[in-house]
Amino acid sequence: MSEPHASSPTPALHLIQNARLPRWVLSDDVLRTPSPSGQLGPNNTTVDIHIEHGCVKRISPSAVHTKASTRALAAQAGVLDVQGRLVLPGLVDAHTHLDKTLTLSRLGEVKPGLLNAIESMMKDRAKWSVKDIEERASTALHWALESGVSHIRTHCDWWEVQTTPLAWGVLNRLAADWSKRLQLDRVNLIPLTLFANPTDALALGQAVIEANEVHPGASLGGFIHTINWNPEALGNLMRVAHALKLDLDLHVDEELNPLACGLESIARQALALGFQGRIVCAHTCALAQKTDSEAQSILQWVKDAGITLVSLPVTNMILQDAVTLRTPRQRGLTLVKEAQAMGIPVMVASDNVQDPFCSVGSYDPMDALNYGVPLAQLPEAFDLWSQAICRSDWLSSKHTPSAPKPLSPGSPANLVIFDKATHQGFPSRSHDRLRVRGGLLLDKTSLA
Ligand SMILES: [Zn+2]
Repeated sequence: MSEPHASSPTPALHLIQNARLPRWVLSDDVLRTPSPSGQLGPNNTTVDIHIEHGCVKRISPSAVHTKASTRALAAQAGVLDVQGRLVLPGLVDAHTHLDKTLTLSRLGEVKPGLLNAIESMMKDRAKWSVKDIEERASTALHWALESGVSHIRTHCDWWEVQTTPLAWGVLNRLAADWSKRLQLDRVNLIPLTLFANPTDALALGQAVIEANEVHPGASLGGFIHTINWNPEALGNLMRVAHALKLDLDLHVDEELNPLACGLESIARQALALGFQGRIVCAHTCALAQKTDSEAQSILQWVKDAGITLVSLPVTNMILQDAVTLRTPRQRGLTLVKEAQAMGIPVMVASDNVQDPFCSVGSYDPMDALNYGVPLAQLPEAFDLWSQAICRSDWLSSKHTPSAPKPLSPGSPANLVIFDKATHQGFPSRSHDRLRVRGGLLLDKTSLA
């Protein structure tokens, strides 16, 4: 896909006809209306998306047109008939690392596994400059934009309480610079041990407040693992976030150790505190090592605490059970189906891209879904699980008016139209896409 040529004005759409949206987007009224053509069946209802001032005005079952009125409509500027093609809201990449990305080519040999990747990254970090970080992160944002991403979240490594990393300033500035093209959230990724002192914990929380003053969308983060487990430090982290009205986005139990207890502890503390902000927990691989009854209890606390889970299938496959010259036996995926069945918000995302943690990746959330569907044997990839790469509202702050579900009336008309994918085979054949941002069609099309 390419950006529209500068000499040709970007078409502003006011009507997208015959779009096949996933079931989770549609209201009950629309779902109950059979397709007027009778060809697609009640589960394949197509809709018309009405757009006004760059926002969704309403979604209605596809109108029935005569041949003459169809020709007349098609000739109107701002009308795009997508002829039953699959359409998703703008994509969300809920978990990335723009500070570390695209460093792999200069690292030499990287030994397998999460802890070796961390060691390799620490050596490379000594060479980082503002220019280097900005160039790599900007390339990543361009790739995301090409994929149809309208909301991306990045973590940013912190390793000392008193020193703000160079990348934090760069990423906050990029969030402001890119705000008209996509939403860039930032999370300071801090080892749990740095929260051991309550005064330090407060200082780390203050850094998030300052970042939100540069541009909204910053959350407090942490890396929680059995190698650094410290319940007092977790208590400090959560009390500071609660007191300062911060949202949390935590790396939790990214390991196969059944004794890992980060997720359970976070959920229990959130309930005890009456935590009011959004809590996002990423990875939680160790949940799959628990017994079924232990996992069920933990998931109930997660649900009660209103926690969003983010699964990172590509990096889990690369980093978990990783030993040189040995085929991995375990794949590290958390219990996504059990969580979804209980009504817990579950997202999938890219995580690391072409750095020591993960050699592959392209800032296309469809990659994560492509791996996640066979890995977790996910049913209804389009109608149900596409939520995992679209639900911006599952990341939004509970301290401000919560973001509405994508494509609700009044929300931005950010859309991705898939030229060749079918709902039965989704997400296969999803590479050919048209992007609509704020009602503007960004790609040239032969459909119009
Ligand atoms: Zn991560």
